[in-house]
Amino acid sequence: MTKFKDKIVLITGGTSEIIKLQREFFLGNKTKSVKFRLEQLKRFRHILKENEALLYDAIYADFGKSVFETYETELVLIYHEINQAIKKVKQWSKPKKVRTNLANFPGKSRIYSEPFGNTLVVGAWNYPYQLTLVPVVSAIAAGNTVVIKPSELASHTSAIMAKLINENFPKDFLYVQEGGVSETTDLLNQKFDKIFFTGSTRVGRIVYEAAAKNLTPVTLELGGKSPSFVFPDADLKMTAKRIAWGKFLNAGQTCVAPDYVLVHSDVKDRFLEELKNQILQIQGEDPKGCESYVRIINKQNFDRLSELIDPDKIYFGGETSVEYLHINPTVLQNVTFNDKVMEEEIFGPILPIIEFNDLEEIITDVKRRPKPLALYVFTKKESIKRKILNEVSFGGGCVNDTIMHLSNPKLPFGGVGSSGMGNYHGKMGFDCFSHKKSVLHKGIWFEPFLKYKPYTNLNKKILKWIVE
Ligand code: NAD
Repeated sequence: MTKFKDKIVLITGGTSEIIKLQREFFLGNKTKSVKFRLEQLKRFRHILKENEALLYDAIYADFGKSVFETYETELVLIYHEINQAIKKVKQWSKPKKVRTNLANFPGKSRIYSEPFGNTLVVGAWNYPYQLTLVPVVSAIAAGNTVVIKPSELASHTSAIMAKLINENFPKDFLYVQEGGVSETTDLLNQKFDKIFFTGSTRVGRIVYEAAAKNLTPVTLELGGKSPSFVFPDADLKMTAKRIAWGKFLNAGQTCVAPDYVLVHSDVKDRFLEELKNQILQIQGEDPKGCESYVRIINKQNFDRLSELIDPDKIYFGGETSVEYLHINPTVLQNVTFNDKVMEEEIFGPILPIIEFNDLEEIITDVKRRPKPLALYVFTKKESIKRKILNEVSFGGGCVNDTIMHLSNPKLPFGGVGSSGMGNYHGKMGFDCFSHKKSVLHKGIWFEPFLKYKPYTNLNKKILKWIVE
């Protein structure tokens, strides 16, 4: 009977009805209890584990991603977040004691982490499970309700998330709304207490503008062109291996993939040689036939990427197949900042190599561009690491590795400037979905006379003596 009633609500009410239900549910205070949050997190983990086979099938149907890579780059992160939240949510939710200043004597000061309330999570398609569900885990841990909007471009993974969540959780607490631009626009026209968006900088602007109408706080996880610096003293074999892995994982469709390489002229040729060897070792002679090399998500992106391959600049790869939406790992050499491939985030398996001689000049070139989501620097020299980390603003990154910073939940993950705002993962995810409510608990047995009139010179002197 309840199920039948629920269906009617869906058909007649649409998303505004869901949001109304979630608002009422939140006002009932159920999500405030840590016990409730723990139950939901455990339920979430159980549902994912029970249905892993369906998750693998759906992502394979979307873009040919293998079981191993799906586990390694999607499910591990979600399970890790859930396990950590289960372990820590009680501690995270406790009011935090802070010192009380003299002016507030006698008193105690506390910071309360309270849930924002009704939240919206909009996901991207390239890691459809973790980019959508990791923030949902944080939102649950922090005591919110969530409307979840996966990307329509990965339609099978969107459908399986909708099925698993909508069939196993009450819709007034968690609900997956599938759909594309019009459904997202519809959601953005509603009032939420927090919006968490992962996607392009272009759509990030639309989300930010819509949120501003209701003064809704937002976290924007966006994209950008993430550089990798390679210096002459770097271990070139390891550098090439880690860049090749980070770039061609998910066929380059990774927000923190090294977008392009800045290599010092002294080692350019040796680096290119190592890069070729490593790509061959990691991806094989014919990645198309290899079940662990994913395809491009759709024809539109395939066409966009194909146009970025300048035949005169191919050092390695360049083969494409429109039939399989497949692009082989491709390295372009002799690239300059004026080439088309350097205009926008590539988001595919094409790696431009730019040569440099002068450290100051190349740092200035990078600093003049929009702030990247990630930056990687390969060197053993402390002075170079320090200089780049000190001078260039970017979301996050690695020294002598690529991508792996995001796998450490103790490190906040997020962009800066046009690559985003706010961050999440682990405790930062919990904080991202919590308002920090400051409260002073005041004792009543003493009241400083200085607060009150008359404002005498003596009182001013005493105040100055205390403050200064
Ligand atoms: P996208 O911006 O096209 O889509 C993201 C979401 O926005 C989808 O759910 C989509 O339905 C919705 N959307 C699309 N157009 C819209 C519109 N006009 N109005 C309202 N909603 C709209 O991004 P994408 O193609 O899914 O992902 C690729 C981009 O996301 C890349 O730039 C990549 O760098 C970035 N990204 C960032 C992160 C991160 O963690 N920072 C992670 C993955 C992807």
